[in-house]
Amino acid sequence: MNKPVAVSISLVLALALTNAPVNALEFKGLWQPGAMVVGQTDPEAQVYFQGQLVAVTGEGQFVAGLGRDASGTVQVKVVIDGEEQIFNYPVLAREYQTQRVDGVPQNTVTPPKEVLARIRKETALVGQARADSNSRTDFFRGFIRPLEGPISGVYGSQRIYNGVPKRPHYGLDIARPVGTLVQMPAAGIVKLAYDDMYYSGGTLIVDHGYGISSTFIHLSEILVEEGAYVEQGEDVARVGAGGRATGPHLDWRMNWFKVRLDPALVMEFFSLSRTDPKSP
Ligand SMILES: [Zn+2]
Repeated sequence: MNKPVAVSISLVLALALTNAPVNALEFKGLWQPGAMVVGQTDPEAQVYFQGQLVAVTGEGQFVAGLGRDASGTVQVKVVIDGEEQIFNYPVLAREYQTQRVDGVPQNTVTPPKEVLARIRKETALVGQARADSNSRTDFFRGFIRPLEGPISGVYGSQRIYNGVPKRPHYGLDIARPVGTLVQMPAAGIVKLAYDDMYYSGGTLIVDHGYGISSTFIHLSEILVEEGAYVEQGEDVARVGAGGRATGPHLDWRMNWFKVRLDPALVMEFFSLSRTDPKSP
């Protein structure tokens, strides 16, 4: 039970009580809105995050995420050999900016009635693509940026489009010309490759495993097919400006199942330099 844990986690930000009867529960990442947090426990453990059972890898790793408006405390329950331990962590506060975006096509701010059925269908496809996940574990090694370039939009900001307040922005926008190649931040399986969605233009969703997925939107071209395995660093798409956008950029979103994560926060704690070896 106390076997050493082989894991490349360098930054341990929270430790369980030292008198715990189970292996120490360790986390990488901070409990803050939009965060992806990776936990390390005994491979035999059952882990419940906010009361929900989460999958644990053969090395005892698990992942969870907090949404934009998370607050209060987070509860992690670990059960090993019927012995139960509960850990509570306060969620850090976070503030978001308001961003005015003028000049997007007006029909993407106030969509005409005849496109509502199309929008509903596309929303359902995106939801399905994130509903289940594979059991790849390579994303635990870290992510690379899909594209280098100026950041033109951030996670969580309250968006006002052409003067109309809309839902918050959940992506990290990286501005680059149409046609610029976009690389995969981590390996995964293509769950959705859709050329032209009403709000998001060319839309690609890749499942990295354990509920973690990347979504790229406003793409001008998608170079991979649904069901395909894609490697970290592989060219998968090209930047575009389709959907609700004022100019060409990559909008990179990340999810833990339905929960929307902040790619910038993920990169703060889990970035893998492009020169790092891909395998240990
Ligand atoms: Zn965006």
